[in-house]
Amino acid sequence: MNEDYELRFLTPIKDQLEAIARGGVFGHAFILSGDDAYNAALFLAQCNNCLTPIDGLACGDCQVCRKIAAGVFEELHIIYPEKNLHRIEKMRSVQEIATRKAIYGRVKVFIIVNAELMQEAAANSLLKTLEEPPDNTLFILLADNIDRLLPTIISRCQVFGCGRESVAIIDDNEVEKLIPQAQELLLSLPQLQCWQVLLRAKTVISENDKQQQLHYFTALLWLLVSSIRGERQLPFTPEQALKSAMMMENAIDYIYRNINRKILTDVIFLRLWQNALR
Ligand SMILES: [Zn+2]
Repeated sequence: MNEDYELRFLTPIKDQLEAIARGGVFGHAFILSGDDAYNAALFLAQCNNCLTPIDGLACGDCQVCRKIAAGVFEELHIIYPEKNLHRIEKMRSVQEIATRKAIYGRVKVFIIVNAELMQEAAANSLLKTLEEPPDNTLFILLADNIDRLLPTIISRCQVFGCGRESVAIIDDNEVEKLIPQAQELLLSLPQLQCWQVLLRAKTVISENDKQQQLHYFTALLWLLVSSIRGERQLPFTPEQALKSAMMMENAIDYIYRNINRKILTDVIFLRLWQNALR
């Protein structure tokens, strides 16, 4: 179990997308965030339309792959906000174009840049399209603050963080350094009051340091896993430890997805506190 946990977070986005492509099953809707989101979106568009795919992956070299890379493929629609907004009229036209048959390729691809700038009506209109997607369409939302998207939209999409910051590699040495601190927190949970837990959340996690939060959460995960293995005594029953470990796994995933990290930390600390024996 623990090896899987660790491996999953060391896998860069490209590998994940390639794994999806190799499986031959693409979702029809993605949310991508991070520095490389745009390139990852083009890569997905290429994998869906390449004329000579290699192993299910875009060759990068055929006419279609080249056109997509240059942003001039006929079935590729890149939608930018106008005056800092995506308006409903635009999303209606997206829906209208999506229902037409693709002529120049297999799959019509819509890339919505800065999707968090959708007006509510626009977002609801897009949601309808995502709920009943026309055949052979792919929607890719680029968003750096995914917590500003409608939860109903997020739930329809596969979410990936792409880019240097987002694929921050977990450094085992840095995690090691945080183990004593994380262990002290877990051991003290049964004695803490709710407000003290929130105070701890504030002091141990540095809000502006994604990497530090990633390392701290991984330290908590390692500790929980080692207590499940019986290597360490923590104030959790094996079931609670397992539940908490799974929660930490999701939390680490959320950090990669650029979710609001302050809220995430508070929620995670409170849940750990609830799960701990008292
Ligand atoms: Zn190609």
